[in-house]
Amino acid sequence: MKGIGMWGILLVCVLLTGCNSNSEQTKGEPKKEQTPPSEPNKNKQVEEPEVKKGTPEWDMLQIEQAVENNDEAVFMSYQNSENHLFFKEQKRWIEEAKFKKEQGYTLSVDISFMKENDTKGKVYFRVKMSHPNFESTNNLVIYQAIKVNEKWILNDVPFETLTSESGSITVYYKKGQEDTAQKTLKDATDIVAFYSKMFNWKPEPISIKVYSNINEVSATVPWVMLSGWNEIGESLKINSGVMSQIFKYLAHELTHKMVGDITNDNASIYIQEGFATYLQAAINRDGNGMVSFDPQKPIENAQKAMEISNTLKTIEELGQIDYTDPEGSMYRDGALLSTYLIETKGINIFFDMLKSLSAFEYIDKRIEHKLEMVNSRTVEAIEKVYGPDEQVSADLKNYYLK
Ligand SMILES: [Zn+2]
Repeated sequence: MKGIGMWGILLVCVLLTGCNSNSEQTKGEPKKEQTPPSEPNKNKQVEEPEVKKGTPEWDMLQIEQAVENNDEAVFMSYQNSENHLFFKEQKRWIEEAKFKKEQGYTLSVDISFMKENDTKGKVYFRVKMSHPNFESTNNLVIYQAIKVNEKWILNDVPFETLTSESGSITVYYKKGQEDTAQKTLKDATDIVAFYSKMFNWKPEPISIKVYSNINEVSATVPWVMLSGWNEIGESLKINSGVMSQIFKYLAHELTHKMVGDITNDNASIYIQEGFATYLQAAINRDGNGMVSFDPQKPIENAQKAMEISNTLKTIEELGQIDYTDPEGSMYRDGALLSTYLIETKGINIFFDMLKSLSAFEYIDKRIEHKLEMVNSRTVEAIEKVYGPDEQVSADLKNYYLK
């Protein structure tokens, strides 16, 4: 799922935090730089009066304006509907852009086009975002454009693909990144096999898109800054900028994939991020290169987190935060909750709680866009398995704040 950020103040897995992990985003420091003044599209039109209908530049201008006007229909008319995965992700992109503005972000895109031949071109798709709690960012991804019915439309990054023998995992990567793609496929295959066996998970087919850096991943979501991404119905996305981190990013994001499958995507973000942070710490390759599970690692991380800050959010308080939380509580406090539940009641009971969420219907939206609903479902599941949430929160505090 998302990844905003690491647990607020540094905690342990600092660099990595998968998903929505955006360490920059969650340090909780007030933004230092003022956002540069935004460039209203009006100015753009004045500066570029020569843009004529029928040119690729005109098509790109329509996309920029569709983003500015929250016009999903126009935006989607410029996406390749035959590329089903990309088309679905672009629909989620424009929904996210609208949602982010409602959360108080400013967001705009700046697009330039470079023609390659009569039917193909490159699109430099730049996403500018800022929010009072976070640094402002300017993220770039380069898409392919294709000409269809006299109109230039977007067609994802020009990816190559690599598929596992079983056909269940496909890695999308850019030319020149063959080694990264091989490593990604091997790590993902091993982690999925491990999770499937240990947690009795029967995964749906998995698509993984590999990007060169954090800016690219973030631009495709769109998010201020993140290292990895997973939402049911979309590809799992990772930044391959730091090769040695790929295993940890995948351990994190594949946890989201598994939890999404098992719960019908009804787990709230503090369970999703908390358990992904837990497993990201617990899963490693041992000396023989085999995937192994060490429950001691998340316990050590929890101890460090409590040393850094001797505070703890209750389940009720966790239900009130979203990804704009400047402290990244869904990671830090979410992991403290998951670690406590697993350590004191066992991982099988934790999975009973997750499984009970599958009784609820699937809602075809990103989790943060259905947060109120999944929060109440998650509390219901916790209470069913562990008892009243106030009691669980009280026991949680006793456990850490003794
Ligand atoms: Zn995550």
